[in-house]
Amino acid sequence: MTMSKLQIFSLIVVFAKGGLAQPLPVQWEELTAPDFVQAIRQSGGVCLLPFGIIEKHGPAGPLGTDLINVRHSSVEAAKKEYAVIFPEYYFGQIYEARHQPGTIAYSTRLQLELLQETTGEMARNGCSKIIVVNGHGGNTMLLQYFAQTQLDSPKDYIVYAYVSLGAPPNAAVPAAAAASGPNVDGHAGEGEIANVMASRPDLVRLARSDSQSGADLRRLDLPAGLVTGIGWYSRFPNHYAGNSSRATVARGQAATQMRVDSIVNVIRAVKADQTGPRLQKEFFDAARQPLNTKQ
Ligand SMILES: [Zn+2]
Repeated sequence: MTMSKLQIFSLIVVFAKGGLAQPLPVQWEELTAPDFVQAIRQSGGVCLLPFGIIEKHGPAGPLGTDLINVRHSSVEAAKKEYAVIFPEYYFGQIYEARHQPGTIAYSTRLQLELLQETTGEMARNGCSKIIVVNGHGGNTMLLQYFAQTQLDSPKDYIVYAYVSLGAPPNAAVPAAAAASGPNVDGHAGEGEIANVMASRPDLVRLARSDSQSGADLRRLDLPAGLVTGIGWYSRFPNHYAGNSSRATVARGQAATQMRVDSIVNVIRAVKADQTGPRLQKEFFDAARQPLNTKQ
Protein backbone atom coordinates (compact mmCIF):
# COMPACT_ATOMS: atom_id res chain seq x y z
CA MET A 1 0.00 0.00 0.00
CA THR A 2 1.45 3.35 -0.98
CA MET A 3 0.63 6.58 0.81
CA SER A 4 -0.76 9.59 -0.97
CA LYS A 5 1.07 12.92 -0.79
CA LEU A 6 -1.73 14.19 1.43
CA GLN A 7 -1.32 11.30 3.89
CA ILE A 8 2.43 11.83 4.07
CA PHE A 9 1.89 15.57 4.62
CA SER A 10 -0.60 14.82 7.43
CA LEU A 11 1.89 12.51 9.14
CA ILE A 12 4.62 15.18 8.96
CA VAL A 13 2.22 17.70 10.54
CA VAL A 14 1.31 15.24 13.31
CA PHE A 15 4.93 14.44 14.15
CA ALA A 16 5.86 18.12 14.00
CA LYS A 17 3.24 18.67 16.72
CA GLY A 18 4.94 16.11 18.94
CA GLY A 19 3.31 12.79 18.11
CA LEU A 20 -0.07 11.35 17.29
CA ALA A 21 -2.73 13.47 18.95
CA GLN A 22 -4.56 11.15 21.36
CA PRO A 23 -7.23 12.19 23.80
CA LEU A 24 -6.02 12.03 27.40
CA PRO A 25 -7.25 8.92 29.23
CA VAL A 26 -9.78 9.70 31.98
CA GLN A 27 -8.52 7.02 34.37
CA TRP A 28 -5.83 8.09 36.86
CA GLU A 29 -3.88 4.83 36.56
CA GLU A 30 -3.76 5.03 32.77
CA LEU A 31 -2.12 8.47 32.66
CA THR A 32 1.63 9.05 32.50
CA ALA A 33 2.97 11.49 35.09
CA PRO A 34 3.46 14.31 32.54
CA ASP A 35 -0.02 13.62 31.11
CA PHE A 36 -1.46 13.65 34.65
CA VAL A 37 -0.42 17.29 35.01
CA GLN A 38 -2.17 18.03 31.72
CA ALA A 39 -5.23 16.02 32.80
CA ILE A 40 -5.66 17.98 36.04
CA ARG A 41 -5.43 21.18 34.05
CA GLN A 42 -7.94 19.96 31.48
CA SER A 43 -10.37 18.82 34.20
CA GLY A 44 -10.20 22.12 36.06
CA GLY A 45 -9.19 20.11 39.13
CA VAL A 46 -12.44 18.11 39.07
CA CYS A 47 -11.84 14.44 39.95
CA LEU A 48 -14.24 11.56 40.44
CA LEU A 49 -14.01 8.85 43.06
CA PRO A 50 -16.46 6.16 41.96
CA PHE A 51 -17.31 4.30 45.16
CA GLY A 52 -18.31 0.64 44.78
CA ILE A 53 -18.38 -2.38 47.07
CA ILE A 54 -17.57 -6.10 46.96
CA GLU A 55 -20.61 -8.11 48.07
CA LYS A 56 -22.96 -10.82 46.89
CA HIS A 57 -25.31 -9.57 44.21
CA GLY A 58 -27.98 -12.26 44.32
CA PRO A 59 -27.48 -15.52 42.42
CA ALA A 60 -26.90 -13.84 39.03
CA GLY A 61 -24.59 -10.86 39.49
CA PRO A 62 -20.84 -10.63 40.11
CA LEU A 63 -19.51 -9.59 43.53
CA GLY A 64 -18.28 -6.35 42.01
CA THR A 65 -21.64 -5.39 40.45
CA ASP A 66 -21.76 -1.94 42.08
CA LEU A 67 -18.06 -1.26 41.50
CA ILE A 68 -18.26 -2.32 37.85
CA ASN A 69 -21.44 -0.35 37.17
CA VAL A 70 -20.40 2.87 38.89
CA ARG A 71 -17.01 2.86 37.20
CA HIS A 72 -18.51 2.16 33.78
CA SER A 73 -20.96 5.08 34.08
CA SER A 74 -18.29 7.40 35.51
CA VAL A 75 -15.76 6.62 32.76
CA GLU A 76 -18.35 7.18 30.02
CA ALA A 77 -19.41 10.47 31.65
CA ALA A 78 -15.84 11.71 32.03
CA LYS A 79 -15.21 11.04 28.34
CA LYS A 80 -18.04 13.48 27.59
CA GLU A 81 -17.15 16.06 30.25
CA TYR A 82 -13.51 15.63 31.13
CA ALA A 83 -12.62 14.67 34.70
CA VAL A 84 -9.92 12.45 36.22
CA ILE A 85 -11.18 9.17 37.68
CA PHE A 86 -9.54 7.62 40.75
CA PRO A 87 -8.67 3.87 40.58
CA GLU A 88 -10.99 1.12 41.86
CA TYR A 89 -12.34 1.93 45.32
CA TYR A 90 -14.61 -0.41 47.28
CA PHE A 91 -13.83 0.17 50.98
CA GLY A 92 -17.35 0.95 52.11
CA GLN A 93 -20.09 -0.11 54.52
CA ILE A 94 -21.27 -3.68 53.92
CA TYR A 95 -21.56 -5.41 57.29
CA GLU A 96 -25.04 -6.72 56.41
CA ALA A 97 -23.53 -9.10 53.83
CA ARG A 98 -20.74 -10.56 56.01
CA HIS A 99 -22.59 -13.89 56.11
CA GLN A 100 -22.30 -14.23 52.33
CA PRO A 101 -19.25 -15.52 50.41
CA GLY A 102 -16.87 -12.99 48.93
CA THR A 103 -17.93 -9.94 50.95
CA ILE A 104 -15.14 -7.55 51.95
CA ALA A 105 -16.18 -5.52 55.01
CA TYR A 106 -13.54 -3.22 56.51
CA SER A 107 -13.82 -1.71 59.98
CA THR A 108 -15.79 1.51 60.40
CA ARG A 109 -12.67 3.36 61.52
CA LEU A 110 -10.75 2.25 58.43
CA GLN A 111 -13.60 3.15 56.07
CA LEU A 112 -13.56 6.76 57.30
CA GLU A 113 -9.78 7.08 57.58
CA LEU A 114 -9.13 5.59 54.15
CA LEU A 115 -11.70 7.84 52.53
CA GLN A 116 -10.20 10.88 54.28
CA GLU A 117 -6.66 9.97 53.29
CA THR A 118 -7.72 9.11 49.73
CA THR A 119 -9.49 12.43 49.17
CA GLY A 120 -6.55 14.17 50.87
CA GLU A 121 -4.10 12.52 48.50
CA MET A 122 -6.31 13.37 45.54
CA ALA A 123 -6.30 17.00 46.67
CA ARG A 124 -2.52 17.00 47.15
CA ASN A 125 -2.33 15.96 43.50
CA GLY A 126 -4.40 18.87 42.30
CA CYS A 127 -7.98 17.65 42.67
CA SER A 128 -9.49 20.79 44.16
CA LYS A 129 -13.04 19.54 43.61
CA ILE A 130 -13.66 15.87 44.41
CA ILE A 131 -16.92 14.17 43.50
CA VAL A 132 -17.50 10.85 45.26
CA VAL A 133 -19.92 9.00 42.98
CA ASN A 134 -21.76 6.43 45.04
CA GLY A 135 -22.59 3.11 43.41
CA HIS A 136 -23.76 1.19 46.50
CA GLY A 137 -26.83 1.83 48.64
CA GLY A 138 -25.05 0.81 51.85
CA ASN A 139 -22.57 3.68 51.37
CA THR A 140 -25.21 6.40 51.21
CA MET A 141 -25.28 7.33 54.90
CA LEU A 142 -21.53 6.83 55.24
CA LEU A 143 -20.99 9.35 52.45
CA GLN A 144 -23.45 11.88 53.82
CA TYR A 145 -21.67 11.66 57.17
CA PHE A 146 -18.26 11.87 55.50
CA ALA A 147 -19.27 14.94 53.48
CA GLN A 148 -20.49 16.66 56.64
CA THR A 149 -17.30 15.84 58.57
CA GLN A 150 -15.22 17.69 55.97
CA LEU A 151 -15.95 20.84 57.98
CA ASP A 152 -13.96 19.49 60.94
CA SER A 153 -10.75 21.17 59.81
CA PRO A 154 -9.74 23.72 57.15
CA LYS A 155 -9.21 22.32 53.66
CA ASP A 156 -8.19 23.90 50.38
CA TYR A 157 -10.40 21.47 48.44
CA ILE A 158 -14.06 20.59 48.51
CA VAL A 159 -15.76 17.19 48.58
CA TYR A 160 -19.11 16.63 46.90
CA ALA A 161 -20.92 13.32 47.47
CA TYR A 162 -23.24 12.25 44.66
CA VAL A 163 -25.47 9.84 46.53
CA SER A 164 -28.52 9.59 44.27
CA LEU A 165 -27.04 8.19 41.10
CA GLY A 166 -29.69 7.94 38.43
CA ALA A 167 -31.77 10.16 36.23
CA PRO A 168 -31.26 13.92 36.35
CA PRO A 169 -33.98 15.54 38.52
CA ASN A 170 -37.33 15.82 36.74
CA ALA A 171 -36.16 13.66 33.86
CA ALA A 172 -38.77 11.31 32.52
CA VAL A 173 -37.77 7.66 32.76
CA PRO A 174 -37.90 6.27 29.22
CA ALA A 175 -39.98 3.11 28.81
CA ALA A 176 -36.83 1.18 27.91
CA ALA A 177 -35.34 1.88 31.36
CA ALA A 178 -38.48 0.95 33.30
CA ALA A 179 -38.98 -2.23 35.33
CA SER A 180 -40.82 -5.14 33.68
CA GLY A 181 -43.28 -5.25 36.59
CA PRO A 182 -43.74 -4.68 40.32
CA ASN A 183 -41.29 -5.99 42.97
CA VAL A 184 -38.50 -6.94 40.55
CA ASP A 185 -36.11 -4.12 41.46
CA GLY A 186 -33.97 -3.93 44.57
CA HIS A 187 -30.54 -5.16 45.61
CA ALA A 188 -29.30 -7.43 42.76
CA GLY A 189 -32.74 -7.17 41.21
CA GLU A 190 -33.74 -6.62 37.61
CA GLY A 191 -32.44 -3.04 37.32
CA GLU A 192 -28.99 -3.67 38.78
CA ILE A 193 -28.39 -6.85 36.83
CA ALA A 194 -29.62 -5.18 33.63
CA ASN A 195 -26.96 -2.52 34.21
CA VAL A 196 -24.26 -5.20 34.42
CA MET A 197 -25.61 -6.62 31.14
CA ALA A 198 -24.81 -3.20 29.67
CA SER A 199 -21.39 -2.74 31.31
CA ARG A 200 -20.04 -6.33 31.52
CA PRO A 201 -22.52 -8.74 29.88
CA ASP A 202 -20.06 -11.64 30.16
CA LEU A 203 -20.35 -11.65 33.97
CA VAL A 204 -24.13 -12.12 34.35
CA ARG A 205 -25.60 -15.58 35.05
CA LEU A 206 -29.18 -14.68 34.27
CA ALA A 207 -30.50 -18.26 34.21
CA ARG A 208 -29.70 -18.54 37.94
CA SER A 209 -31.97 -15.63 38.85
CA ASP A 210 -34.71 -17.88 40.28
CA SER A 211 -32.38 -20.26 42.11
CA GLN A 212 -32.89 -18.21 45.30
CA SER A 213 -35.72 -16.04 46.55
CA GLY A 214 -35.44 -12.25 46.56
CA ALA A 215 -38.78 -11.84 48.33
CA ASP A 216 -39.17 -9.57 51.37
CA LEU A 217 -39.67 -11.96 54.32
CA ARG A 218 -40.89 -9.15 56.65
CA ARG A 219 -39.70 -11.09 59.71
CA LEU A 220 -39.31 -8.09 62.00
CA ASP A 221 -42.53 -6.38 63.03
CA LEU A 222 -41.58 -2.92 64.32
CA PRO A 223 -43.13 0.55 64.06
CA ALA A 224 -42.10 2.71 61.09
CA GLY A 225 -39.09 4.88 61.87
CA LEU A 226 -37.54 2.40 64.28
CA VAL A 227 -34.22 1.22 62.83
CA THR A 228 -31.98 -1.69 63.81
CA GLY A 229 -28.88 -3.15 62.16
CA ILE A 230 -30.42 -6.57 61.64
CA GLY A 231 -33.36 -5.01 59.74
CA TRP A 232 -32.03 -5.76 56.26
CA TYR A 233 -31.16 -9.37 57.13
CA SER A 234 -34.61 -9.83 58.63
CA ARG A 235 -36.10 -8.98 55.23
CA PHE A 236 -33.57 -10.36 52.72
CA PRO A 237 -31.37 -13.12 54.24
CA ASN A 238 -30.20 -14.23 50.75
CA HIS A 239 -28.86 -10.70 50.17
CA TYR A 240 -31.11 -10.56 47.14
CA ALA A 241 -34.09 -8.22 46.80
CA GLY A 242 -36.39 -8.45 43.79
CA ASN A 243 -35.92 -10.74 40.82
CA SER A 244 -33.38 -10.40 38.04
CA SER A 245 -34.76 -13.08 35.69
CA ARG A 246 -36.26 -10.59 33.23
CA ALA A 247 -33.28 -8.24 33.08
CA THR A 248 -32.40 -7.21 29.53
CA VAL A 249 -29.48 -5.54 27.81
CA ALA A 250 -31.91 -2.95 26.42
CA ARG A 251 -33.06 -1.90 29.89
CA GLY A 252 -29.48 -1.84 31.14
CA GLN A 253 -28.32 0.34 28.26
CA ALA A 254 -31.20 2.81 28.68
CA ALA A 255 -30.71 3.05 32.46
CA THR A 256 -26.92 3.31 32.11
CA GLN A 257 -27.34 6.14 29.62
CA MET A 258 -29.42 7.99 32.23
CA ARG A 259 -26.72 7.39 34.84
CA VAL A 260 -24.06 8.68 32.45
CA ASP A 261 -26.14 11.78 31.68
CA SER A 262 -26.69 12.42 35.38
CA ILE A 263 -22.96 12.22 36.11
CA VAL A 264 -22.17 14.53 33.16
CA ASN A 265 -24.68 16.95 34.67
CA VAL A 266 -22.99 16.70 38.08
CA ILE A 267 -19.47 17.22 36.65
CA ARG A 268 -20.63 20.34 34.80
CA ALA A 269 -22.37 21.73 37.88
CA VAL A 270 -19.28 21.15 40.05
CA LYS A 271 -16.98 22.73 37.44
CA ALA A 272 -19.22 25.80 37.43
CA ASP A 273 -19.61 25.98 41.22
CA GLN A 274 -17.69 28.97 42.59
CA THR A 275 -19.97 29.50 45.58
CA GLY A 276 -19.27 26.24 47.44
CA PRO A 277 -15.48 26.75 47.62
CA ARG A 278 -15.90 30.45 48.51
CA LEU A 279 -18.38 29.75 51.33
CA GLN A 280 -16.27 26.88 52.63
CA LYS A 281 -13.26 29.22 52.92
CA GLU A 282 -15.43 31.88 54.56
CA PHE A 283 -16.69 29.24 57.04
CA PHE A 284 -13.21 27.95 57.92
CA ASP A 285 -11.97 31.52 58.47
CA ALA A 286 -14.95 32.26 60.72
CA ALA A 287 -14.65 28.96 62.61
CA ARG A 288 -11.13 29.91 63.70
CA GLN A 289 -12.56 32.83 65.68
CA PRO A 290 -16.23 32.13 66.41
CA LEU A 291 -16.45 35.00 68.91
CA ASN A 292 -15.88 37.39 66.05
CA THR A 293 -18.84 36.03 64.12
CA LYS A 294 -21.52 38.70 63.94
CA GLN A 295 -24.36 38.07 66.41
ZN1 LIG B 1 -25.78 -3.28 44.16
